[in-house]
Amino acid sequence: MPNGDAPRLKTLGDLFSDDACPLCGVLKEFQASYLRQPDTGLLANVCGSHTWMIAKTAEAESAAALYLRLLDRAATEDSQSDRCDVCNHIRREENTRLKEFAGQVARPEVLKWLQQRGTFCVPHAQALLMYLPESLQNDVLLALKKRRAELRKKLVDLLQDARRKRPVHGGVLGRVAEYLVAQRGLGLRS
Ligand SMILES: [Zn+2]
Ligand SMILES: [Zn+2]
Repeated sequence: MPNGDAPRLKTLGDLFSDDACPLCGVLKEFQASYLRQPDTGLLANVCGSHTWMIAKTAEAESAAALYLRLLDRAATEDSQSDRCDVCNHIRREENTRLKEFAGQVARPEVLKWLQQRGTFCVPHAQALLMYLPESLQNDVLLALKKRRAELRKKLVDLLQDARRKRPVHGGVLGRVAEYLVAQRGLGLRS
């Protein structure tokens, strides 16, 4: 962080108020905060998504200094790189948060959330399973299964209504689209 402040983990209440992957939520916030004032002096390689995000959110001075450097590099032969320094920065935070979160899953309030309306994106569910004991892995897998089954049922109902020319509520499609897109996680470069 440019100002030296350590990012603070949101409270459990904040994390679990959304109907979405809590790890993605906390990392999106971390990313947004970093991109407002990126360490442009340290960034040598930036992926397409982060280049766009910097244009939208960074202070003009930081963004211009960074773009100037990237523009000059783009003129050289060896400028092609698959690396992204912003992705790597977020990836490091992600590993910290995953371990932190895995350590909290056994807490009653987290288990309750998980069993009632817990959800994760696929990449975070897979990563989390590696850190959890077998007894808790099952709760994560059940939560994912339950969420998918709920949405599937709503879709089947909607499809039936549509085929019978009954009025349908498009809100379900929006929710499923959001779910499908969110399943990919943050889409960081590896
Ligand atoms: Zn996620
Ligand atoms: Zn990136």
